[in-house]
Amino acid sequence: MCNECLVYPALQKFYNALDIIDKIDCKKYIFETIPQLDAFFSEMRNITFVLQKSFNTPELKIDYEQIRDKFFNNSTMNWFKNTRNEISKQHPFKLEKALEIEYYLPNFSIKATNSRLTIDNDYNFLDLYQSLKNFLDTHYSNSVEVFLSTNITFLENGEEVNVYSIIRDGIDIMNSFIQELISKYPCNCVKCMRLQNSIKSLIENINIKQLTFSSDLYYADKELSIGSEIYTFLDPKHSLLTPAMPLKNSIWDMNNSLNCDLNLLRVFSYHHIVLARIQRTQSSDSELMPVFLIIYKNNTYSFYGPITGTNKSTFYRAISNICKIITNNQVKAVLMLSEAYFYKDKDLTKLQNMKYKDRIKEASGVNILFSLVSKQMKKICNITIDYENLFNDEYIYKNIKDIEMCNPEDHTAYPIFQALHS
Ligand SMILES: [Zn+2]
Repeated sequence: MCNECLVYPALQKFYNALDIIDKIDCKKYIFETIPQLDAFFSEMRNITFVLQKSFNTPELKIDYEQIRDKFFNNSTMNWFKNTRNEISKQHPFKLEKALEIEYYLPNFSIKATNSRLTIDNDYNFLDLYQSLKNFLDTHYSNSVEVFLSTNITFLENGEEVNVYSIIRDGIDIMNSFIQELISKYPCNCVKCMRLQNSIKSLIENINIKQLTFSSDLYYADKELSIGSEIYTFLDPKHSLLTPAMPLKNSIWDMNNSLNCDLNLLRVFSYHHIVLARIQRTQSSDSELMPVFLIIYKNNTYSFYGPITGTNKSTFYRAISNICKIITNNQVKAVLMLSEAYFYKDKDLTKLQNMKYKDRIKEASGVNILFSLVSKQMKKICNITIDYENLFNDEYIYKNIKDIEMCNPEDHTAYPIFQALHS
């Protein structure tokens, strides 16, 4: 018998479901998103309906049910099933949003506002922008500048379920399930191949989309502007945080570095200096993007980033996210690569009263800053490399050897220090 296109109806339904999630926009009103979620859950359920129809002989049926049971007996897929039943028989998806606003104040203590948006008490992004601007005009119009970020999380009514994250998990499981069916019943027709390729790229978009739930804002001269961010993904799933990998036998495991945080900082710096050199030979003004290396207590590590943005709020938000990772995981040290403008023979008070974008015009140069924040240490350690001396081996050797000790309160990484020592 011919099994060609056996999985095609399921591919089409899966594509429909993904296409709906790809179009979700957290900046819209809740009532605009609910019908999209309802339609998504319904199309996800339709995948198994059409498969039951395709796998219609006794042998096919047994095979299908075996594969289905392998992927569907778990809490994520149960949540999908229950949600879909509620949506179709009881009520539309009970969507709520958590709104978090973080202010990055000059002393770098971060102030967050948390509120819950419901369908009866809802803002779209334009409403939010306007009310934030009114708030800043009232309270911060005398400040030189204010950096802030907003972050939106989709939640289920009354429950602390991160809806988007569980949807991503469900999509992953459904994708593995369909891939297994395809590997047993392949079809190379144009229609099936085209759908499979489109599904792959939609899943990538959906993984990246979560990053658009945050916005970085900047306020000065009674103007509120929205920045944009640039990401480079080190993780194939397009997450900013890479999966934890063992330190042992990794590139960080040299010269006894695993037993000494300072040596870890030296290795971290050295690798990035080599990278900066390669970049500069290709483009004379290229700069490294900020990145974080997180060292967990169980001797594994993850990268976070690289990330940069058109305003400095993006960098402060990254620091704030690192603090959240520290709160939720057993972290023993964080290494940070950032850039710092430096000012020689300048009036510091005058500089402090200037806006960031004006201040950097006065800068004497840019340093690459490698910082270590360790649970064991009362200082933040720095290795500083001036881009002007990037190809000067003697200078590099000396600066990697002579690590500077800084007062945590004066350092950009102070929130990370606080999170590690709390
Ligand atoms: Zn086909």
